[in-house]
Amino acid sequence: MLHTQGPLLTVDVGERTSETESIDDVLESFIGGRGVATKLAHDRIPFDADPFGAENRLYLATGPMQASTMSFTGRMNATAVSPLTDGLLSSNAGGFMSRNFADTGHAAVEITGASDELVVLHVTDDGVEFEAVPNLTGATVPETVAYLDDEHDIGADQTAVVGPAGENLVRFASIMTSEERAFGRGGLGAVLGSKNVKALTFEGDSAPDIDIPASQMEIHREAATDDHIMKRQGTVAVMDLANEMNGLPSYYFTEQQFEGVNGINGDAVEAKKYKKGTCSACAFACKLPTRDEERGVETEGPEFEVAMAFGSNSGVDDIVDVMKSNELCDRYGLDAISAGNTVAAYLAAEDEFGNDDLIHETVEKIAKREGVGDDLAEGIARVHDDLDVPDWTVKGMDFAAHEGRVLHGQGLSYAVANRGADHMYAVFYSQEYPLVDEHDAYDPTGFEGKPQRLVEKENQMAVNDSGVVCKFSRDYMTPERYEMLFGAEFDELLAVGNRIVTLERHFNNQRGFDRADDTLPYDLPGFEDALEEYYEIRGWNDGVVPDEQVPA
Ligand code: SF4
Repeated sequence: MLHTQGPLLTVDVGERTSETESIDDVLESFIGGRGVATKLAHDRIPFDADPFGAENRLYLATGPMQASTMSFTGRMNATAVSPLTDGLLSSNAGGFMSRNFADTGHAAVEITGASDELVVLHVTDDGVEFEAVPNLTGATVPETVAYLDDEHDIGADQTAVVGPAGENLVRFASIMTSEERAFGRGGLGAVLGSKNVKALTFEGDSAPDIDIPASQMEIHREAATDDHIMKRQGTVAVMDLANEMNGLPSYYFTEQQFEGVNGINGDAVEAKKYKKGTCSACAFACKLPTRDEERGVETEGPEFEVAMAFGSNSGVDDIVDVMKSNELCDRYGLDAISAGNTVAAYLAAEDEFGNDDLIHETVEKIAKREGVGDDLAEGIARVHDDLDVPDWTVKGMDFAAHEGRVLHGQGLSYAVANRGADHMYAVFYSQEYPLVDEHDAYDPTGFEGKPQRLVEKENQMAVNDSGVVCKFSRDYMTPERYEMLFGAEFDELLAVGNRIVTLERHFNNQRGFDRADDTLPYDLPGFEDALEEYYEIRGWNDGVVPDEQVPA
């Protein structure tokens, strides 16, 4: 089975030490990326670790496919105990850093300890250099990137950076790379912030020599020539359909259709797009560089999730206002989905939906933990009682846009996912929208056949995250192509995915997670039976992994 190569670089930022060690046995069993990081995290982070404690460890890892030139491979993985969910969580970012990371020759980098001053970690083929950067305290992401460029001639594509939100331990702070791409979900930026790490840079000339099967070129060609709507409008292309299906969360989830949808939909975003955007090596190029010269707003996106969170869910019907929110989140280093939903909760409490000035001001306050922003920085699950609004999260994770009240399989996925109400854990929604993925469609209503398929999709997506292969490759990555690329039977690959999901679940079980955490803030007919069926297929007892099933 294809897997990444190279040692693990462990950096103790408290002791200012580093060491490398072989992890070949882990690589052979877990491929790379999320799989390798999850296995290491499971075995090395104490089960009772404080997410903000020195004992928490943060892993960055690429996979074998970053040695290829295939489309859909400009991504990489980050893993740690999440300050938002309190469980083991992996997050995935695109952009251009993955290959610069691979050039250092390390399969994975592990960061532990906590520094007593703000530092940048410069990772090269030779290990790591520590640079104290008290001058960067409170610096935004663009300011930090400019410093690294000016002082070290290191480009944005070689950097992983936290903004003020990470430094201030906002529980949904992101790690930003290539300036506008985010390891967004789960607050891993705050984990770096708790370790007083402002940025990492990656530079080297030691990329592993991995023999990638020629079939990669077939996929690359199709990605380049296909006339796919996502190449023009990214993920926001689905917004009109979601709205028609009564599946567009609006006004902090109190409504499921938005009368202002035309102002924030795929056409609205496309009208502001000024060039193609992509991740390294990817001919699919689904990213959305947008700008509005009149108001001086320039950003990337918004994607569907952000157009929901800062658009319909906040009562905003002007795409430029959503772009502005997106730009602020990137600048301060915030997960734009969680930030948007948290702001929407605040707007609900204040009866201020659609108040753009208040929205933008609140984003800034959250990042700086000023005034009401200090409470909101704790996230909806911890602050909803004070706001007197419902808790629209699962395991503390804010909902993505794909509406589980309409797409019931996606609802089940939100409930059981180890990282909470996130859409990319299984990407189940793609099978429930009519006309989107006709080849593999389910009736959105009900659970017939879905628990079994959900288990397969979770396992398959864990393989993608380990490869690392972008999940938007779904129309091109057939089981036969997985087999050709990874040199293993599809079932064997799904078994790897199963081990990854099981290790995450076992880690979280040790922290007290069980069936009571696999819930939704709404009722779906047949949900409890579907949940039971899911557990039976997984072999879990009320959401708990039996000891004998914990992968070695
Ligand atoms: S499909 Fe889009 S998100 Fe995925 S790697 Fe390509 S450009 Fe990046």
